[in-house]
Amino acid sequence: MKDELKQFKLRNEKIAEKVTRKIREANVQMNVMHVCGTHQDTLVRYGLEDMLKQAGINIIQGPGCPVCVTTPREVEEMIKLAESGVVITAFGDMMKVPGEKKSLMHAKQDGADVRVVYSIDDAVDLANKIDEPVVFMSVGFETTTPTTASTISRGAPDNFYVLSCNRVIPPALDAILKMGELNLDGLIEPGHVSAIIGTRPYEPLSERYGIPQVVAGFEPLDLLMGVYMLVQQVKEGRAEVENEYGRVVKTEGNLKAQKMIEEVFEPMDTDWRGFPVIPGSGLKPRDKYSEHDARVVFSDILDELKGKKFEERENCLCGEVLRGVTEPNECELFGKGCTPGNPVGPCMVSREGSCNIAYRYRGGG
Ligand code: SF4
Repeated sequence: MKDELKQFKLRNEKIAEKVTRKIREANVQMNVMHVCGTHQDTLVRYGLEDMLKQAGINIIQGPGCPVCVTTPREVEEMIKLAESGVVITAFGDMMKVPGEKKSLMHAKQDGADVRVVYSIDDAVDLANKIDEPVVFMSVGFETTTPTTASTISRGAPDNFYVLSCNRVIPPALDAILKMGELNLDGLIEPGHVSAIIGTRPYEPLSERYGIPQVVAGFEPLDLLMGVYMLVQQVKEGRAEVENEYGRVVKTEGNLKAQKMIEEVFEPMDTDWRGFPVIPGSGLKPRDKYSEHDARVVFSDILDELKGKKFEERENCLCGEVLRGVTEPNECELFGKGCTPGNPVGPCMVSREGSCNIAYRYRGGG
C-alpha cells in the first residue's frame, strides 16, 4: 500500500495511507458519481479509480464536462449563425465538437468567420474593433457563468451577443437520481461549482433521495477524504451534505457571483447531451439584457432550426458515457476511429471528457 501511494503527489502521504486503509476496512460497497472533469483527471491520473474499485468503491463520472454536455443543436445554432455571416467566437475545444454534419472548425474551413478566443474578454475586444456582429458561445457551469454575466451587465458593445449554453449542476443531479439508471449510493460534488453555489443547493437531493453527498477538492487526498466521508455516512446511516473542501467552499458560496448570475440570467428548461430536457437546468439572459441575447437578436436565422432533431454521430456513445452507464472503452470507436487527434464525439475532444482522460492515461486499447 505504501509503495502504491508514493506515486501520488499528496499533501501528506501518511494521512492518505491511513484514509485508504480506513476505506478498505469499512468494507462498504458503493457506486459513487461525480460530475467534474478535474475530479476524473485526478482519479485516473493517480490510479485512485482502480484502487478504490478494489476497495469496493465504484466511481462513475457523470455529466461534468461543460463542452461534452453541449448539444448538437447548440453547435448547429453556432454553425448556422457562422454561415449567415455572423462572426463567431468560441473556446478552442468547442471548435472541434461535432454538430450533426460538421463542427465549427469545418465551418471555418468552409469560409465562415469563426475565431478561437481564450476568454469572453477576447470576444468583447474583437467586437470593439469591428463593426460586424460578434457572437460568443458561452459554455460552462456555475463556475464560468459569473464572468459572462458580469460582461453583459457592465455594458458590452452593441454588436456583441451571447449564445448561452450555460448550465447549472443541481437540476442535472436531480434528473440523474430521478431517472435511476444507476444504483447510486453517494455523490461527490464539484469543488469549483460549489465554490460559487455553496453547499445548500445539494441539500434537497439528500432529503429527496436519501443520498449522502460530499463536496470535494481536486487533489488525490481530497478525493480519498471525500470517499471516506461518504463511506462513514453509509456506515452510520446518514444522508447529508458534507464539505471536505472547506478551505475554498463556504456553506453559502460566493454571494457576489450568485447575485451576478441572478441579475443577468434566468433558468430555462434545456436538454443536455445524452439527457432529455432537464427542467431549470439552463440559463438564458433576462429580458432586460435581450439586446445581447443571440437567440433573440438572430431569431429569424435560428428559427429555421426550430423543431429539427439533431442526431449524435453514428456509433458514438457520448450520451451513455455522460449518463455514466457506459465506460469509454466500451465504445467500439474508442482509440480506433476516435482519438484526441481525430475525435468523433465531444467526450474525446475535451480534456475534461471521460474518453479523452481514459485515452491519455490508459491508452487507446
Ligand atoms: S470514444 Fe469517441 S465516439 Fe466513443 S463515446 Fe467516446 S467520444 Fe464518442
